[in-house]
Amino acid sequence: MSYAAFYRHSIESPEAFWAEQAKLIDWQTPPRQILDDSRPPFARWFVGGTTNLCHNAVDRHLAERADQPALIAVSTETGTERTYSFRELQGQVQRVAATLVSLGVGKGDRVLIYMPMIAEAAFTMLACARLGAIHCVVFGGFASGSLASRIEDATPKVVVSADAGSRGGKVIAYKPLLDEALRLSAHKPDAVLLFDRGLAPMDLTEGRDHLAAPLLEKHRDAQVPCTWLDATDISYTIYTSGTTGRPKGVQRDVGGYAVALAASMKHIFDGHAGETYFSTSDIGWVVGHSYIVYGPLIAGMATIMYEGLPTQGLDRQPDGGIWWQLVEKYKVTVMFSAPTAVRVLKKQDPALLKKYDLSSLRALFLAGEPLDEPTARWISEGLRVPIIDNYWQTESGWPILTVANGVEPTPSRFGSPGVPMYGYKVKILNESTGEELTGPNEKGVVVIEGPTPPGFMQTVWKDDERFVNTYWKSVRGKMVYSTFDWGIRDADGYYYILGRTDDVINVAGHRLGTREIEESISGHAKVAEVAVVGVADNLKGQVAMAFVVPRDGAVLGDAQAALVLEGEVMKQVSDQLGALARPSRVHFVSVLPKTRSGKLLRRAIQAVCEGRDPGDLTTIEDPSALQQIRQSVDVSR
Ligand code: ATP
Ligand code: MG
Repeated sequence: MSYAAFYRHSIESPEAFWAEQAKLIDWQTPPRQILDDSRPPFARWFVGGTTNLCHNAVDRHLAERADQPALIAVSTETGTERTYSFRELQGQVQRVAATLVSLGVGKGDRVLIYMPMIAEAAFTMLACARLGAIHCVVFGGFASGSLASRIEDATPKVVVSADAGSRGGKVIAYKPLLDEALRLSAHKPDAVLLFDRGLAPMDLTEGRDHLAAPLLEKHRDAQVPCTWLDATDISYTIYTSGTTGRPKGVQRDVGGYAVALAASMKHIFDGHAGETYFSTSDIGWVVGHSYIVYGPLIAGMATIMYEGLPTQGLDRQPDGGIWWQLVEKYKVTVMFSAPTAVRVLKKQDPALLKKYDLSSLRALFLAGEPLDEPTARWISEGLRVPIIDNYWQTESGWPILTVANGVEPTPSRFGSPGVPMYGYKVKILNESTGEELTGPNEKGVVVIEGPTPPGFMQTVWKDDERFVNTYWKSVRGKMVYSTFDWGIRDADGYYYILGRTDDVINVAGHRLGTREIEESISGHAKVAEVAVVGVADNLKGQVAMAFVVPRDGAVLGDAQAALVLEGEVMKQVSDQLGALARPSRVHFVSVLPKTRSGKLLRRAIQAVCEGRDPGDLTTIEDPSALQQIRQSVDVSR
């Protein structure tokens, strides 16, 4: 079937389409009604059906592939590798499940997981799913303040953590951060379960803190059956990256999510049972939930969980080829990463891409932020497999725009994440009038018309009102879901994301996407990374200002060289996009402010440029990056 026909079927007959997809998973009770859309914008999928995510990810595979690899935990931080078969995974998950039960956890209780990228984190997520407990994974790199606000919002009965994480060989003790967060939080959990990796000492609070090892040992042979849950029960909550402000607690269901992931593994990722999937994300992000833990396992694939930098080997020595070594070793067929990681690898010796046998690999998927053309070309020429950009959000749970390779091999286009995926009615609206833009290359806000497909967020955790008001009423009161991203669609139906709606720059009445300007600048041979923001200007309303990380660090200390490069960059933008888009200034910095998930914090840069308070910075990776921005702006004032 052509993808166009497949897509059309999903939009014209959503119930028939998704009833078919629902067969990809196991149900204890089959759904009575495929879609209940009686209370828009809340879409309820597979009503009356009962199932379980853990059953679909683990137990159901025991019949056919009990001894095949399920979870491969690799840490270049501790120099360890361990493979768990589906049978072993089931054993580990049941031990954790029994331990959680012994701490009072049952269906509907929240369990907050604050852990590094170790196998036990996945066991815990799956154990929660098994019990019908709602997990809330908080990225292990967050400090106390961010963690405390999430503990308060999620109100967990139990918090699961570890003694420490490790990054670039540096041990980061989690327990003191957790203790501080628990002190700050108004909500106190009944119990804290701690995995001790032997990396950092832990002070235990009597009566509250429990070491995992003795409890797991006590439940060594525990049999904990999967709790059958309603398809519309809550599986987990997860917070958005906080790029644009206070993170939103995204709430997801059970049945719709399981079906959406199973379908995406087949139609989008084209991954098959018995193969290996390698996603380099972190369980703290939605990609980690969908495509490290649940998606690959539901498909019967082995999944690699990787702790460490992309540039360090198992011997803990620098090695920019470690990921490719793992692809060779575990015969990875599908890989998933982010442009930010590829840009790190781009600084390594390109010969590393040729050093290993990568013939098992069929495609590399990239998501999370705009994929600039130079980065896409570099990795595509190096790997010689299709590089597939995919656009989605924490809210959607699975790709909104990409190419569905499993349905019909489709060429991707540089600069475009692709076309709407089945089930998504994607439209472009004029932000000020709310009118739909149907012509080619008309710029507007990218929206999704309801009902949203399975896997999409159910609501904002504990806050239906925020869900409706934030997402569904933002474009002229129209009942459509706003992605808050700005884009265009070309004559062939391919979409291009131009930036966040917040990031649109209005220069003398002309609306420009920051992304377009960044794309143009990043094409310059001497540019490694760039961020463009709109800065208030008395004359023009707004002007573009660029912050560039030069490929050659020398520019940073050499005012003359910087001036020359600034001129070149400005000229390049003028030549390619016109004088209006030309940045008023190009500042050179050694690092750009990013969220812990690698996204540019444009709003913070913009605030600093305009002399405003940069707002919630709990998700920033390196606060000194913002300091550099402040200095370069102050100097030029
Ligand atoms: P918050 O919603 O808290 O501000 P966030 O939007 O960064 O944070 P995520 O859900 O992690 O949180 O990121 C989704 C956003 O990332 C998208 O809305 C889009 O702006 C960007 N994005 C993701 N994938 C792509 C892609 N392939 N191309 C361009 N942008 C992308
Ligand atoms: Mg967002």
